[in-house]
Amino acid sequence: MAAPVSAVEEHPPFDCSACAARKEGERPDDDGRCAACRGSLIRRSSQWAWVPAAVIAAGYLWLLFVWGLLESTAMVFFLALGAGIAFVAYKIARRIAFDLLVTRGNRARNH
Ligand SMILES: [Zn+2]
Repeated sequence: MAAPVSAVEEHPPFDCSACAARKEGERPDDDGRCAACRGSLIRRSSQWAWVPAAVIAAGYLWLLFVWGLLESTAMVFFLALGAGIAFVAYKIARRIAFDLLVTRGNRARNH
């Protein structure tokens, strides 16, 4: 006689590793954080990442200015390139900020 198939629990309850709240019906991330904690981490690292991206964009604009490229016919191209560079810098900075926040959070928890 086959055992009745129990309802498959896709997301078993877990205790969030960051806020220690018991979460049900959602999946923890790789470090066992709940969606809210992960969301706030991403938000914080996004806010952070604007700083280096803005600095790089400003530095790039300054270089264009110093080299006199702002008056060149290819100015649109250089500005688009600068926007691309700033965007990549933003993505990388966000990634780094996220890792830093996670590491700091883990260290605070282990002490
Ligand atoms: Zn949490």
